[in-house]
Amino acid sequence: MSDLATTIRQLVAGNRILANEGIVDAMGHISARHPDNPKRYLLSWARSPGLVEAEDIMEFELDGTPVKDNGKPIYIERPIHGAIYEARPEVMSVIHNHCYEILPFAITRTPMRPAVHNARRIGENVPVWEIRDKFGDTDLLVTTMDQGRDLASVLRANKAALMRGHGCAVTGLTIPDAVQTAISMKINARAILQGMQLGEICYLTPGEINAKQAGAASLKGFDRSWDYLCRKAGIAP
Ligand code: MN
Repeated sequence: MSDLATTIRQLVAGNRILANEGIVDAMGHISARHPDNPKRYLLSWARSPGLVEAEDIMEFELDGTPVKDNGKPIYIERPIHGAIYEARPEVMSVIHNHCYEILPFAITRTPMRPAVHNARRIGENVPVWEIRDKFGDTDLLVTTMDQGRDLASVLRANKAALMRGHGCAVTGLTIPDAVQTAISMKINARAILQGMQLGEICYLTPGEINAKQAGAASLKGFDRSWDYLCRKAGIAP
């Protein structure tokens, strides 16, 4: 299978997994950088992620222009994807979601910090992008490249950024990497929210977050988590 076919297959799986894991609902999206052309990315037309099939995947320029306009409606928040690919050459996948468990961290000043071991991957810092700082009162959607670039400038080199009053943007070096990070953010958020009912949260230290991983997540090309998530979502890994 060509790189492009493999990427599309993984992108469809990523859509289904994010829906199945409750990271996205009717809204939210995941894209992948084009494997043969770093100046383009792949993204479904404006379908709900749980319904996305291979033939729904379209190609876009980094500025959000569809390479072939097939008349289908397209996601309005494409600039989140294009601006992050533009600013971060190493990023190969971007997710935008409004995951319910993550929203409390996007509407308060309580920072999102790793508290459970599998959330080490989200890193020490999850910055919060405030759209109001530069754009005043808006409908909070990221609809222009100026807004997308402003978000990317706050994300900087971090794995994810919260978007105040809205949701978050998550990056990955691969599609499974981005999907796992989005899932870890949800698990971490839920654990913190529930933990707060019992007492003070004991967050991971920077040393714990950055400690070398003892067990390998991916062995001999087999990714245990991806295999599990695909089967749970009802698709072939
Ligand atoms: Mn949104």
